[in-house]
Amino acid sequence: MSPGESSLYGSPGNQHTVLEPGIDYVCQRCTACCKWPGDVRIEGSEIAAISAFLGISEMDFISSYTRLRANRNGLSLIEKGNHECIMLKGNSCLIHEVKPGQCSGFPNKWNFPGWRKVCEAIPMKVSQ
Ligand code: SF4
Ligand code: SF4
Repeated sequence: MSPGESSLYGSPGNQHTVLEPGIDYVCQRCTACCKWPGDVRIEGSEIAAISAFLGISEMDFISSYTRLRANRNGLSLIEKGNHECIMLKGNSCLIHEVKPGQCSGFPNKWNFPGWRKVCEAIPMKVSQ
């Protein structure tokens, strides 16, 4: 992953997120965001649920499916040589039910400039 690629897609907590009150973008499962280069952050609080879902120990999950983030301040899911997330199987996420907050939070809780050009989520009005 180059610095340019990293900044292209942003990450949770970045300074460039634009939220739209009253609009909820509904994911169309195009899997584009599972194929972008860069970290898929795993928080410490997410490890137990993902490990249990996979039926393996937390240590086995960490050693088999994670690596250090690019900035070395936490864990990321491993990405394959083609940049796909290791949890992507065909068009499905193997841990959909317990996927990391980075995944479930995009694009409604975090996003980046130009995200609509690379994500097929459809805007829906939220009933007030
Ligand atoms: S890129 Fe957008 S529409 Fe595609 S899977 Fe990710 S959130 Fe869903
Ligand atoms: S954990 Fe699942 S939803 Fe998140 S990037 Fe990997 S395959 Fe996609």
